[in-house]
Amino acid sequence: MIADECKKIKNNFIDEIKNCSEAKCLSDIKIRYLGRKGIVSSLFKSISSLTQEERKTGGRELNLLKEHIEKTVREKESELRQKVSPASFFDPTLTGEKTDIPGNHPLKAVMNSIIYIFTAMGFGIAYGPEIEENYYNFTALNFPENHPARDMHDTLYLKEKDTLLRTHTSPVQIRTMEKHAPPYKFIAPGKCYRRDTIDASHSPVFHQVEGFMVDRDISFADLKGVLDEFARRIFEGSQDIKTRFRPSFFPFTEPSAEMDIMCSICRGKGCSSCSGKGWLEILGAGMVDPEVFRYCKVDPDKWQGFAFGMGVERIAMLKYGISDMRLFFQNDLRFLRQF
Ligand SMILES: [Zn+2]
Repeated sequence: MIADECKKIKNNFIDEIKNCSEAKCLSDIKIRYLGRKGIVSSLFKSISSLTQEERKTGGRELNLLKEHIEKTVREKESELRQKVSPASFFDPTLTGEKTDIPGNHPLKAVMNSIIYIFTAMGFGIAYGPEIEENYYNFTALNFPENHPARDMHDTLYLKEKDTLLRTHTSPVQIRTMEKHAPPYKFIAPGKCYRRDTIDASHSPVFHQVEGFMVDRDISFADLKGVLDEFARRIFEGSQDIKTRFRPSFFPFTEPSAEMDIMCSICRGKGCSSCSGKGWLEILGAGMVDPEVFRYCKVDPDKWQGFAFGMGVERIAMLKYGISDMRLFFQNDLRFLRQF
C-alpha cells in the first residue's frame, strides 16, 4: 500500500521537476515535498497507524523516496545556478553597464581646457581644502576683520568656530606660500560655495580657477600677456579676440582689474547677448597686494606677482552660448548630449 503510494508520489515529482526551469518553481517543489508539512512528512506521520510489518517495509520505501527527492532537488539546484541568465542575476560587485552619456560634462571639458592652457604655459597645479579657515579665506587675503569687504561674499559658515566653505579658490595662494618659498607659478582649480539663491546666473556651488605667479620681476604687462594668451586659446575660433582691462577692487590685489572680452556676436557694438555693452566680463585679476605677502612672510620688496580668478561656469556659458547656469546641474541628457 505504502509502496504504491510512494511510486505515485515519485512519478508526480519526476514530472514536476522535469518541467521546472527556474529557482522559484524549484523552491515551491522543495517545500511541497520536503517541507515540515509536506507530502513526505505527512506520509511518515501516517505510518504510525499501520501494523508493525507494514511499518517496516513502508518505512524503508519512504526513506528511499525521501532520499531520491532530496538528491534530485540538489542536482536541479546546481543545474539552475549554472545556467542563470545575466538579466535575472544581480551582482552589485560587478562594474556597471556603459550608458550612452556622451563625452565630458561641459564644465569638466572647460575646466580641462583651462588647466591644459595654463600648464602648457608652465603653470603648475595646486589644490586646497573646500572646508577652509576664516584666516585663509579672508584674513590673510587682506580682508580686514569686521570690514564690510567680508560681506562681498555671502559666506556659508560652519558650526565649528572660524570654519567656512571657501568662497573662492584664493586661500590656496596663502597655503602654498606658507609651505613653499618663492617663486610661484601655479593655478588652483576647484569648487567654491556661497549663500546664493539658484537662478540663471547664480549657484551656491560653482567652480573657479585661481592663477598665481610671483617672481623677481613680474609686472602688470606679464599679467596682461598671460591672460590675453589664455583668452585667445580658450575661445579658439574667434582668432582676433579683443580684450580690455577695467579698474576694479579686490582686497588681495593692488591694482586690481577685471578683464573683458569683446562680444563675438556684435563685435563691440552692443547687443542683447552682452546687455548692450559690447564687452563680456570673464575674470578678475591684479598685482598681489604687499599685505598678502607680509601675512605669508614673503618679502614684498624682493618679490612681485599677479593673481587672477575666473568662474568656470561663466567661461563655459560664454564659450558654448549657454544662457542659464542651472542647465549645468540638472543632468538633462538633451543638454548634455550636445557636448
Ligand atoms: Zn554683443
